[in-house]
Amino acid sequence: MTVRVRFAPSPTGSLHIGSVRTTLYNYFFARRHGGTLVLRIEDTDQDRLVPGAIDSIYDGLHWLGLRWDEGPREGGPHAPYVQSERLPRYQQAARELVEGGAAYFCFCSKERLAALRAQQAAAKQITRYDRHCRTIPPAEAADRALREPHVVRLKVPDGGTIGVDDLVYGRVEWPIETIEDQVLLKSDGFPTYHLAVVVDDHVMGITHVFRGEDWLPSTPKHLLIYRAFGWEVPPLAHFPNVLGPDGRKLAKRHGATKVEQFRTDGYLPEAMVNYLSLIGWAPGTEEEVFSAEELVAKWRIEQVQKAGGKWDRDRLDWFDGVWIRRLSIDELLRRLDPLVPAEWDRALLRRALPFAQERAKTLVELRDQLAFLFGDVAYATDLLVPKGHDGAATADALGRSARALRGLARFAHDEIEPALRRTSDELGWKMRDSSHPVRVAVTGRHAGPPLFDALELLGRERTLERIDRARALLNGGGTR
Ligand code: GLU
Repeated sequence: MTVRVRFAPSPTGSLHIGSVRTTLYNYFFARRHGGTLVLRIEDTDQDRLVPGAIDSIYDGLHWLGLRWDEGPREGGPHAPYVQSERLPRYQQAARELVEGGAAYFCFCSKERLAALRAQQAAAKQITRYDRHCRTIPPAEAADRALREPHVVRLKVPDGGTIGVDDLVYGRVEWPIETIEDQVLLKSDGFPTYHLAVVVDDHVMGITHVFRGEDWLPSTPKHLLIYRAFGWEVPPLAHFPNVLGPDGRKLAKRHGATKVEQFRTDGYLPEAMVNYLSLIGWAPGTEEEVFSAEELVAKWRIEQVQKAGGKWDRDRLDWFDGVWIRRLSIDELLRRLDPLVPAEWDRALLRRALPFAQERAKTLVELRDQLAFLFGDVAYATDLLVPKGHDGAATADALGRSARALRGLARFAHDEIEPALRRTSDELGWKMRDSSHPVRVAVTGRHAGPPLFDALELLGRERTLERIDRARALLNGGGTR
């Protein structure tokens, strides 16, 4: 059997990292088994469409390096891969079910359904369709369907249970009486998600349906639709949600959840893939830094955990730092390029990168740490003053540092360091304290690339200029 799996996003917004995690698992499974990954756009809920969402899905998946084999733009043997372009297929499928007696036309008006719901709610009953149209003789119903607005509903059997052996959750069963005669085809000729997903998974030859936990409650409906068609149910797996720190499904209120946001914030796709894979899957070893290829080789559905994994931005930062350090300088420069102003001298940037690479957690942080080399710095004067000292003493310390630096034969790390150490001894200050104002004066920040290298990169002239300016600020020359 050739594995065929699918990723079936609805274009209702830009790509969410929870969906990416589901896609990754499908992707690993497909690649490992030499199978096919299908991208299918599920846009049957036309009211929820968001313009640009399909582009965002494409951009996000491409950025992450995930390639699929069949899809809306790639084509494939089951084209079209956008559900709104497949309406005749669903209409035909619904007709078959009606003709076979497994579904029926329903002519109930919106008003009637609303009144029914209100009545049931008032009586504290489960609100559900009362099967009013189920008993209309088929010939009469078929005739009315030619003239009257209608939907098609599934004839849900009475009693019993329906269940599935989910590959993650194990045996899951539902009493059939909890399922109403659900709508399969709406009055505008669009299928519901439930009909479309079952028809497409079947006709597209999907061998394994892997999706988010959110869809588990819909599964009994799908099982009944498979049964109505007489089709075999493919193996199903539901992946537990990615959770926010409060244990609820990761959502906007927890911070960024959209792939494009992480891209703009300077995260590497390698780190996103690596970290997201580990939310809900454990490789069973201590190792945790994996490339996409390694994940293809290692990921096993048996190791997916039933409990939802928590999203942790600090962990992502850690992975991003690891992946930043794994890049060659040329590659790092290439990744950084779109985030860096055109006027920054690329040769200087390249020279500076090794120093910032060691510490930065994101590309944006890396860029910001090096900004001092390419333009003026701004800071609050107070930032210059180390804890336990005052402005006058700091100005004096800066003056001594400047003198030491001015006298060096060569303005290079190996000369700068001893010079600043001597200044610190002379002052009787800790090195950390005496170098602090130099760092702030030169870089505008209290943390960043190693100081001696930072000074060397900036050059003597600009270093001394900035130190002078800082002294002037401390001596009452205004704030900047
Ligand atoms: N279209 C659904 C979504 O947007 C996916 C459902 C499925 O994978 O079966 O998440």
